Amino acid sequence: MDKVLIITGGSRGIGAETALLAARQGYRICINYQSDEEAAHRVLEQVRALGAQAIAVRADVSIEDEVITLFNRVDAELGRVTALVNNAGTVGHKSRVDEMSEFRILKVIKTNVLGPILCAKHAVLRMSPKHGGQGGSIVNVSSVAARLGSPGEYVDYAASKGALDTFTIGLSKEVAGEGIRVNAVRPGYIYTDFHALSGDPDRVSKLESGIPMARGGRPDEVAEAIVWLLSDKASYATGTFLDLGGGR
Ligand code: NAP
Repeated sequence: MDKVLIITGGSRGIGAETALLAARQGYRICINYQSDEEAAHRVLEQVRALGAQAIAVRADVSIEDEVITLFNRVDAELGRVTALVNNAGTVGHKSRVDEMSEFRILKVIKTNVLGPILCAKHAVLRMSPKHGGQGGSIVNVSSVAARLGSPGEYVDYAASKGALDTFTIGLSKEVAGEGIRVNAVRPGYIYTDFHALSGDPDRVSKLESGIPMARGGRPDEVAEAIVWLLSDKASYATGTFLDLGGGR
């Protein structure tokens, strides 16, 4: 079976490393991004240089019309999707809940919860034998924050990842009999641009002393787990969580 992979938020950080690793493993790849076209095209060139067929598609995962356009482009240009990495995510500035605006909370919930559910919906419409598909694999990128709650930092973000974990459990059972596996990774502090969104780009290095392994993680270390869960090597794993938090 041809391997066709959509990575949401594939233009930077964990998503970009996942695209590069998957390219080496024979996937055709769609790199989705929201606004940073230059970054997406840099990753696209690197992926193509590895010999993979690939496209980059702009779409906000929290808007269903844009998700439909994304999946239609993949149908037309790469073929029926067999693998989805729900990686796109966002976070607000470090703050207490009594300082958070409705706008900020909604953006976090829409991007981190609604987005993955919409993308999974359109993936299942192509993967499930009920719709003419041949199965597939979905990996959701959650966070150790789902377990820890992130008090005083961003409880809205932690709650969104908790919802994503519950979605992972439920969907994995819903489609297990249709040849679709659904798993999640839960990274801890990883060196990416993500922390600039929380107001402190150097956050990971500042917090290293509190991590049992005494260092932040690299996006390629998360990508390894994602690509393993996507692969047939993880053929009996569904509804599982791989924590990549250096012991947190
Ligand atoms: P990143 O470097 O900030 O990259 C985020 C990616 O998501 C970018 O490609 C961005 O696109 C895309 N994106 C954001 N909102 C989107 C939307 N509405 N629609 C489509 N794409 C959207 O972040 P990262 O650190 O690689 O994080 C990836 C995932 O890992 C997130 O789900 C995050 O919650 C999770 N995570 C990260 C850490 C960490 O320490 N870094 C820890 C735990 C979990 P543009 O480039 O176009 O903006």
